[in-house]
Amino acid sequence: MALNIDNIRSDFPILSKEVYNKPLIYFDNGATTQKPLQVINRISEYYLNENSNVHRGAHYLSQIATDHFENARKYVAGFINAKSHREVIFTKGTTESINLVASSIKGLIEKDDEIIITAMEHHSNMVPWQQLCINKNAKLRNLSVAGDGSISLSELKDLIGPSTKLIAIAHISNVLGTINPVKEIIEIAHNNGIPVLIDGAQAIAHVNVDVQDLDCDFYAFSAHKAYGPMGIGVLYGKESWLNKLAPYQYGGEMINTVSFNITTFNELPYKFEAGTPDVAGALGMESALRYIDNLGIDNIRSYEDELLEYATNSISKLVGVRVIGTALEKTAVLSFVVDNIHPFDIGTLMNQLGIALRSGNHCAQPLMEHLKITGTLRASFALYNTKDEVDIFVSALEKAINMLS
Ligand SMILES: *Cc1c(COP(=O)(O)O)cnc(C)c1O
Repeated sequence: MALNIDNIRSDFPILSKEVYNKPLIYFDNGATTQKPLQVINRISEYYLNENSNVHRGAHYLSQIATDHFENARKYVAGFINAKSHREVIFTKGTTESINLVASSIKGLIEKDDEIIITAMEHHSNMVPWQQLCINKNAKLRNLSVAGDGSISLSELKDLIGPSTKLIAIAHISNVLGTINPVKEIIEIAHNNGIPVLIDGAQAIAHVNVDVQDLDCDFYAFSAHKAYGPMGIGVLYGKESWLNKLAPYQYGGEMINTVSFNITTFNELPYKFEAGTPDVAGALGMESALRYIDNLGIDNIRSYEDELLEYATNSISKLVGVRVIGTALEKTAVLSFVVDNIHPFDIGTLMNQLGIALRSGNHCAQPLMEHLKITGTLRASFALYNTKDEVDIFVSALEKAINMLS
Protein backbone atom coordinates (compact mmCIF):
# COMPACT_ATOMS: atom_id res chain seq x y z
CA MET A 1 0.00 0.00 0.00
CA ALA A 2 1.30 3.43 -0.93
CA LEU A 3 1.37 6.00 1.86
CA ASN A 4 -0.61 9.21 1.39
CA ILE A 5 2.18 11.61 2.22
CA ASP A 6 0.03 14.75 1.96
CA ASN A 7 -2.33 13.39 4.59
CA ILE A 8 0.57 12.30 6.75
CA ARG A 9 2.22 15.73 6.54
CA SER A 10 -0.97 17.42 7.68
CA ASP A 11 -0.67 15.40 10.93
CA PHE A 12 2.66 17.17 11.60
CA PRO A 13 1.95 20.92 11.75
CA ILE A 14 5.59 21.77 12.48
CA LEU A 15 6.50 20.66 8.95
CA SER A 16 4.72 23.72 7.52
CA LYS A 17 6.97 26.08 9.44
CA GLU A 18 9.32 28.46 7.71
CA VAL A 19 12.84 29.01 8.97
CA TYR A 20 14.86 31.98 7.70
CA ASN A 21 11.89 32.61 5.35
CA LYS A 22 12.40 29.23 3.71
CA PRO A 23 10.14 26.22 4.01
CA LEU A 24 11.57 23.90 6.65
CA ILE A 25 13.07 20.68 5.32
CA TYR A 26 13.54 18.43 8.29
CA PHE A 27 16.18 15.79 7.59
CA ASP A 28 17.37 15.28 11.17
CA ASN A 29 15.07 12.42 12.04
CA GLY A 30 17.96 10.29 13.26
CA ALA A 31 18.29 12.76 16.13
CA THR A 32 14.58 12.98 16.81
CA THR A 33 11.43 12.77 14.71
CA GLN A 34 8.61 15.29 14.72
CA LYS A 35 5.40 14.38 16.56
CA PRO A 36 1.97 14.01 14.98
CA LEU A 37 -1.11 15.73 16.42
CA GLN A 38 -2.34 12.33 17.60
CA VAL A 39 0.59 12.15 20.03
CA ILE A 40 0.45 15.79 21.10
CA ASN A 41 -3.30 15.55 21.71
CA ARG A 42 -2.98 12.34 23.70
CA ILE A 43 -0.49 13.94 26.07
CA SER A 44 -2.62 17.02 26.46
CA GLU A 45 -5.74 14.89 27.04
CA TYR A 46 -3.94 13.06 29.83
CA TYR A 47 -3.05 16.27 31.65
CA LEU A 48 -6.49 17.78 31.01
CA ASN A 49 -8.60 14.85 32.11
CA GLU A 50 -6.68 11.92 33.57
CA ASN A 51 -3.69 13.19 35.52
CA SER A 52 -3.07 11.19 38.65
CA ASN A 53 -0.36 9.01 40.12
CA VAL A 54 -0.43 5.36 39.10
CA HIS A 55 -0.59 2.15 41.14
CA ARG A 56 -1.23 4.13 44.31
CA GLY A 57 -4.56 5.69 45.00
CA ALA A 58 -7.80 3.78 45.27
CA HIS A 59 -9.64 6.62 43.56
CA TYR A 60 -11.21 7.22 40.21
CA LEU A 61 -8.46 9.17 38.43
CA SER A 62 -5.68 6.98 39.73
CA GLN A 63 -7.48 3.93 38.42
CA ILE A 64 -7.92 5.50 34.99
CA ALA A 65 -4.28 6.60 34.83
CA THR A 66 -3.10 3.16 35.96
CA ASP A 67 -5.28 1.36 33.41
CA HIS A 68 -4.10 3.58 30.58
CA PHE A 69 -0.45 3.32 31.64
CA GLU A 70 -0.61 -0.47 31.80
CA ASN A 71 -2.49 -0.62 28.51
CA ALA A 72 0.33 1.41 26.95
CA ARG A 73 2.78 -1.20 28.23
CA LYS A 74 0.67 -3.96 26.68
CA TYR A 75 0.53 -2.06 23.40
CA VAL A 76 4.33 -1.72 23.35
CA ALA A 77 4.66 -5.44 24.13
CA GLY A 78 2.43 -6.24 21.16
CA PHE A 79 4.29 -3.80 18.90
CA ILE A 80 7.61 -5.61 19.43
CA ASN A 81 5.92 -9.01 19.86
CA ALA A 82 7.18 -9.58 23.39
CA LYS A 83 5.90 -12.74 25.00
CA SER A 84 4.65 -10.81 28.02
CA HIS A 85 4.06 -7.21 29.06
CA ARG A 86 6.18 -8.02 32.12
CA GLU A 87 9.17 -7.91 29.75
CA VAL A 88 8.56 -4.23 28.91
CA ILE A 89 10.33 -1.83 31.27
CA PHE A 90 9.66 1.88 30.84
CA THR A 91 12.83 3.96 31.00
CA LYS A 92 13.88 7.48 29.97
CA GLY A 93 15.08 6.16 26.61
CA THR A 94 17.67 4.00 24.89
CA THR A 95 20.52 5.43 26.93
CA GLU A 96 18.90 4.62 30.24
CA SER A 97 17.80 1.19 29.01
CA ILE A 98 21.39 0.29 28.17
CA ASN A 99 22.71 1.78 31.41
CA LEU A 100 20.12 -0.24 33.31
CA VAL A 101 21.48 -3.50 31.89
CA ALA A 102 25.12 -2.46 32.25
CA SER A 103 24.52 -1.56 35.88
CA SER A 104 22.26 -4.46 36.87
CA ILE A 105 24.44 -7.13 35.24
CA LYS A 106 27.51 -6.01 37.22
CA GLY A 107 27.32 -8.92 39.66
CA LEU A 108 27.60 -11.40 36.80
CA ILE A 109 30.78 -9.90 35.27
CA GLU A 110 34.17 -10.91 36.60
CA LYS A 111 37.80 -10.03 36.01
CA ASP A 112 39.01 -10.96 32.51
CA ASP A 113 35.47 -11.51 31.22
CA GLU A 114 34.84 -9.99 27.81
CA ILE A 115 32.06 -7.88 26.31
CA ILE A 116 31.87 -7.48 22.54
CA ILE A 117 30.58 -4.35 20.84
CA THR A 118 31.22 -2.98 17.35
CA ALA A 119 33.14 0.02 16.08
CA MET A 120 29.89 1.62 14.86
CA GLU A 121 28.19 1.96 18.25
CA HIS A 122 26.62 5.17 19.47
CA HIS A 123 28.32 6.41 22.65
CA SER A 124 25.21 5.18 24.49
CA ASN A 125 26.01 1.60 23.57
CA MET A 126 29.70 1.97 24.17
CA VAL A 127 30.53 4.05 27.23
CA PRO A 128 28.32 2.04 29.67
CA TRP A 129 30.16 -1.18 28.65
CA GLN A 130 33.54 0.51 28.69
CA GLN A 131 32.95 1.78 32.23
CA LEU A 132 31.63 -1.61 33.38
CA CYS A 133 34.78 -3.23 32.01
CA ILE A 134 37.02 -0.68 33.72
CA ASN A 135 35.16 -1.32 36.99
CA LYS A 136 35.41 -5.06 36.76
CA ASN A 137 38.82 -5.39 35.15
CA ALA A 138 37.03 -6.97 32.23
CA LYS A 139 37.84 -6.46 28.53
CA LEU A 140 35.87 -4.57 25.92
CA ARG A 141 36.35 -6.19 22.50
CA ASN A 142 35.63 -4.35 19.29
CA LEU A 143 34.17 -5.90 16.16
CA SER A 144 35.52 -3.85 13.25
CA VAL A 145 33.49 -2.14 10.54
CA ALA A 146 34.44 -2.57 6.89
CA GLY A 147 34.77 0.34 4.45
CA ASP A 148 31.19 -0.07 3.25
CA GLY A 149 29.85 0.06 6.82
CA SER A 150 29.21 -3.64 7.26
CA ILE A 151 30.45 -6.08 9.89
CA SER A 152 31.76 -9.59 9.38
CA LEU A 153 30.15 -12.59 11.05
CA SER A 154 33.31 -14.65 10.67
CA GLU A 155 35.27 -11.96 12.52
CA LEU A 156 32.60 -12.09 15.23
CA LYS A 157 33.01 -15.86 15.52
CA ASP A 158 36.75 -15.34 15.94
CA LEU A 159 36.21 -12.75 18.66
CA ILE A 160 33.88 -14.97 20.68
CA GLY A 161 35.60 -17.07 23.30
CA PRO A 162 34.99 -18.76 26.65
CA SER A 163 35.29 -15.39 28.42
CA THR A 164 32.65 -13.61 26.30
CA LYS A 165 29.79 -12.63 28.59
CA LEU A 166 27.70 -10.30 26.43
CA ILE A 167 27.39 -8.89 22.92
CA ALA A 168 25.87 -5.41 22.49
CA ILE A 169 25.20 -4.10 18.99
CA ALA A 170 23.12 -1.56 17.13
CA HIS A 171 20.26 -2.91 15.03
CA ILE A 172 20.75 0.04 12.66
CA SER A 173 23.71 2.42 12.72
CA ASN A 174 22.80 6.07 13.30
CA VAL A 175 25.79 7.15 11.19
CA LEU A 176 25.97 4.61 8.40
CA GLY A 177 22.39 3.41 8.12
CA THR A 178 23.67 -0.17 8.06
CA ILE A 179 21.09 -2.74 9.11
CA ASN A 180 23.17 -5.26 10.99
CA PRO A 181 22.42 -8.99 10.63
CA VAL A 182 21.25 -9.11 14.23
CA LYS A 183 19.28 -12.34 13.91
CA GLU A 184 22.38 -14.19 12.69
CA ILE A 185 24.51 -12.54 15.37
CA ILE A 186 22.08 -13.63 18.07
CA GLU A 187 22.08 -17.19 16.74
CA ILE A 188 25.88 -17.33 16.79
CA ALA A 189 25.93 -15.84 20.30
CA HIS A 190 23.33 -18.25 21.64
CA ASN A 191 25.22 -21.22 20.18
CA ASN A 192 27.97 -20.07 22.52
CA GLY A 193 25.67 -19.38 25.48
CA ILE A 194 26.10 -15.59 25.23
CA PRO A 195 23.25 -13.08 25.70
CA VAL A 196 22.77 -10.22 23.22
CA LEU A 197 21.56 -6.67 23.74
CA ILE A 198 20.28 -4.82 20.68
CA ASP A 199 20.35 -1.02 20.53
CA GLY A 200 17.19 -0.44 18.52
CA ALA A 201 17.13 3.38 18.69
CA GLN A 202 17.37 3.78 14.90
CA ALA A 203 15.34 0.70 14.06
CA ILE A 204 12.06 0.96 15.89
CA ALA A 205 10.46 3.49 13.49
CA HIS A 206 11.96 2.06 10.32
CA VAL A 207 11.89 -1.74 10.26
CA ASN A 208 9.73 -4.46 11.71
CA VAL A 209 10.99 -5.43 15.18
CA ASP A 210 9.93 -8.83 16.50
CA VAL A 211 11.88 -9.65 19.64
CA GLN A 212 10.73 -13.27 19.70
CA ASP A 213 11.72 -13.84 16.10
CA LEU A 214 15.10 -12.17 16.73
CA ASP A 215 15.37 -14.07 20.01
CA CYS A 216 17.35 -11.14 21.50
CA ASP A 217 17.82 -11.08 25.25
CA PHE A 218 17.50 -7.29 25.52
CA TYR A 219 16.21 -4.65 23.11
CA ALA A 220 16.47 -0.92 23.86
CA PHE A 221 14.72 2.00 22.15
CA SER A 222 13.43 5.57 22.63
CA ALA A 223 9.98 6.88 21.82
CA HIS A 224 11.24 10.21 20.50
CA LYS A 225 12.91 8.71 17.42
CA ALA A 226 9.61 7.00 16.57
CA TYR A 227 7.21 9.99 16.53
CA GLY A 228 6.68 9.80 20.29
CA PRO A 229 7.64 12.15 23.12
CA MET A 230 11.10 12.71 24.56
CA GLY A 231 11.97 11.36 27.96
CA ILE A 232 10.50 7.89 27.59
CA GLY A 233 11.73 4.66 26.13
CA VAL A 234 11.76 0.96 26.66
CA LEU A 235 14.00 -1.82 27.77
CA TYR A 236 12.69 -5.14 26.58
CA GLY A 237 14.28 -8.07 28.40
CA LYS A 238 13.52 -11.75 28.43
CA GLU A 239 11.79 -12.54 31.69
CA SER A 240 14.44 -15.10 32.64
CA TRP A 241 17.15 -12.45 32.24
CA LEU A 242 15.27 -9.68 34.01
CA ASN A 243 14.72 -12.00 36.96
CA LYS A 244 18.46 -12.62 37.14
CA LEU A 245 19.42 -8.93 37.18
CA ALA A 246 19.65 -6.78 40.29
CA PRO A 247 17.37 -3.73 40.61
CA TYR A 248 18.71 -0.60 38.92
CA GLN A 249 17.37 2.07 41.26
CA TYR A 250 15.71 1.89 44.64
CA GLY A 251 12.64 3.73 45.85
CA GLY A 252 8.88 3.66 45.63
CA GLU A 253 6.99 1.47 43.19
CA MET A 254 9.80 -1.09 42.85
CA ILE A 255 9.39 -2.52 46.35
CA ASN A 256 7.15 -5.19 47.72
CA THR A 257 7.58 -4.86 51.49
CA VAL A 258 9.92 -2.54 53.33
CA SER A 259 11.02 -2.70 56.94
CA PHE A 260 13.83 -0.72 58.46
CA ASN A 261 16.43 -3.42 57.84
CA ILE A 262 15.19 -5.30 54.82
CA THR A 263 13.24 -4.77 51.60
CA THR A 264 11.73 -7.28 49.23
CA PHE A 265 11.43 -6.18 45.64
CA ASN A 266 8.37 -6.00 43.48
CA GLU A 267 7.75 -8.38 40.59
CA LEU A 268 8.46 -7.58 36.95
CA PRO A 269 8.30 -5.07 35.42
CA TYR A 270 8.00 -2.87 38.54
CA LYS A 271 11.26 -4.13 40.02
CA PHE A 272 12.99 -1.87 37.47
CA GLU A 273 10.67 1.13 37.67
CA ALA A 274 11.55 3.04 40.82
CA GLY A 275 9.59 6.23 41.46
CA THR A 276 6.71 7.88 39.67
CA PRO A 277 6.87 6.98 35.97
CA ASP A 278 6.32 9.26 32.96
CA VAL A 279 2.68 8.31 32.50
CA ALA A 280 1.94 10.96 29.86
CA GLY A 281 5.06 9.83 28.02
CA ALA A 282 3.91 6.23 27.99
CA LEU A 283 0.51 7.25 26.60
CA GLY A 284 2.22 9.44 23.99
CA MET A 285 4.46 6.54 23.03
CA GLU A 286 1.45 4.27 22.63
CA SER A 287 -0.16 6.84 20.29
CA ALA A 288 3.05 7.08 18.27
CA LEU A 289 3.33 3.32 17.86
CA ARG A 290 -0.36 3.14 16.91
CA TYR A 291 0.37 5.80 14.29
CA ILE A 292 3.11 3.59 12.85
CA ASP A 293 0.90 0.49 13.05
CA ASN A 294 -1.95 2.23 11.23
CA LEU A 295 0.31 3.05 8.29
CA GLY A 296 2.12 -0.28 8.44
CA ILE A 297 5.82 -0.58 9.20
CA ASP A 298 6.45 -2.46 5.95
CA ASN A 299 4.85 0.35 3.92
CA ILE A 300 6.97 2.86 5.82
CA ARG A 301 10.08 0.79 5.20
CA SER A 302 9.56 0.55 1.46
CA TYR A 303 8.73 4.26 1.17
CA GLU A 304 11.86 5.25 3.11
CA ASP A 305 14.02 2.81 1.15
CA GLU A 306 12.81 4.43 -2.06
CA LEU A 307 13.56 7.88 -0.67
CA LEU A 308 17.04 6.81 0.43
CA GLU A 309 17.84 5.33 -2.95
CA TYR A 310 16.60 8.46 -4.72
CA ALA A 311 18.64 10.75 -2.45
CA THR A 312 21.74 8.56 -2.68
CA ASN A 313 21.62 8.56 -6.49
CA SER A 314 21.05 12.33 -6.61
CA ILE A 315 23.88 13.39 -4.30
CA SER A 316 26.27 10.87 -5.83
CA LYS A 317 26.11 12.90 -9.04
CA LEU A 318 27.61 15.94 -7.31
CA VAL A 319 31.36 16.38 -7.75
CA GLY A 320 33.35 15.75 -4.57
CA VAL A 321 30.55 14.09 -2.62
CA ARG A 322 31.30 10.71 -1.07
CA VAL A 323 28.61 8.66 0.66
CA ILE A 324 29.77 7.11 3.94
CA GLY A 325 28.02 3.81 4.51
CA THR A 326 27.16 1.82 1.40
CA ALA A 327 26.27 -1.55 2.90
CA LEU A 328 23.72 -3.51 0.90
CA GLU A 329 21.36 -3.61 3.86
CA LYS A 330 20.70 -0.04 4.94
CA THR A 331 17.85 2.35 5.48
CA ALA A 332 16.80 5.94 6.18
CA VAL A 333 20.26 7.39 6.93
CA LEU A 334 22.45 9.14 4.35
CA SER A 335 25.86 10.22 5.64
CA PHE A 336 28.33 11.90 3.35
CA VAL A 337 31.46 13.99 3.17
CA VAL A 338 32.53 16.55 0.59
CA ASP A 339 36.15 16.71 -0.55
CA ASN A 340 38.10 19.53 1.08
CA ILE A 341 35.09 21.12 2.79
CA HIS A 342 34.36 20.76 6.49
CA PRO A 343 30.94 19.20 7.20
CA PHE A 344 30.18 21.99 9.65
CA ASP A 345 30.56 24.70 6.99
CA ILE A 346 28.13 22.99 4.67
CA GLY A 347 25.74 22.32 7.54
CA THR A 348 25.74 26.03 8.39
CA LEU A 349 24.91 27.08 4.83
CA MET A 350 22.23 24.41 4.52
CA ASN A 351 20.68 25.61 7.77
CA GLN A 352 20.37 29.12 6.32
CA LEU A 353 18.49 27.56 3.40
CA GLY A 354 15.99 25.98 5.79
CA ILE A 355 17.42 22.48 5.64
CA ALA A 356 17.97 20.70 8.94
CA LEU A 357 20.87 18.25 8.67
CA ARG A 358 23.29 16.97 11.23
CA SER A 359 27.01 17.55 10.99
CA GLY A 360 29.69 16.13 13.23
CA ASN A 361 30.57 12.80 14.78
CA HIS A 362 26.97 11.79 15.61
CA CYS A 363 27.88 10.54 19.09
CA ALA A 364 30.18 7.98 17.51
CA GLN A 365 33.71 9.31 17.87
CA PRO A 366 35.34 5.85 17.80
CA LEU A 367 33.64 5.16 14.45
CA MET A 368 35.00 8.42 13.01
CA GLU A 369 38.50 7.40 14.08
CA HIS A 370 37.95 3.95 12.62
CA LEU A 371 36.87 5.45 9.27
CA LYS A 372 39.63 8.09 9.46
CA ILE A 373 37.26 11.01 9.03
CA THR A 374 36.49 13.87 11.41
CA GLY A 375 32.77 13.87 10.85
CA THR A 376 30.04 13.61 8.27
CA LEU A 377 26.92 15.42 7.18
CA ARG A 378 23.85 13.34 7.74
CA ALA A 379 20.43 13.48 6.18
CA SER A 380 18.11 11.07 7.95
CA PHE A 381 14.61 10.45 6.66
CA ALA A 382 11.19 9.80 8.13
CA LEU A 383 7.86 8.81 6.68
CA TYR A 384 6.80 12.42 6.03
CA ASN A 385 9.79 13.36 3.86
CA THR A 386 9.38 13.63 0.10
CA LYS A 387 11.34 13.44 -3.15
CA ASP A 388 10.57 17.14 -3.67
CA GLU A 389 12.38 17.88 -0.42
CA VAL A 390 15.29 15.74 -1.58
CA ASP A 391 15.45 17.74 -4.83
CA ILE A 392 15.58 21.04 -2.92
CA PHE A 393 18.22 19.59 -0.60
CA VAL A 394 20.40 18.38 -3.47
CA SER A 395 20.31 21.68 -5.35
CA ALA A 396 21.03 23.56 -2.12
CA LEU A 397 23.94 21.23 -1.47
CA GLU A 398 25.29 21.88 -4.94
CA LYS A 399 25.03 25.62 -4.31
CA ALA A 400 26.78 25.29 -0.95
CA ILE A 401 29.61 23.26 -2.44
CA ASN A 402 30.12 25.83 -5.18
CA MET A 403 30.22 28.66 -2.66
CA LEU A 404 32.74 26.91 -0.43
CA SER A 405 35.14 25.46 -3.00
C1 LIG B 1 19.85 8.17 19.48
C2 LIG B 1 20.58 6.90 19.68
C3 LIG B 1 20.88 6.43 20.96
C4 LIG B 1 20.55 7.20 22.20
O1 LIG B 1 19.17 7.41 22.32
P1 LIG B 1 18.61 8.45 23.43
O2 LIG B 1 17.19 8.62 23.05
O3 LIG B 1 19.42 9.69 23.29
O4 LIG B 1 18.78 7.78 24.74
C5 LIG B 1 21.53 5.23 21.06
N1 LIG B 1 21.87 4.52 19.98
C6 LIG B 1 21.59 4.93 18.73
C7 LIG B 1 21.99 4.07 17.57
C8 LIG B 1 20.95 6.14 18.55
O5 LIG B 1 20.69 6.56 17.32
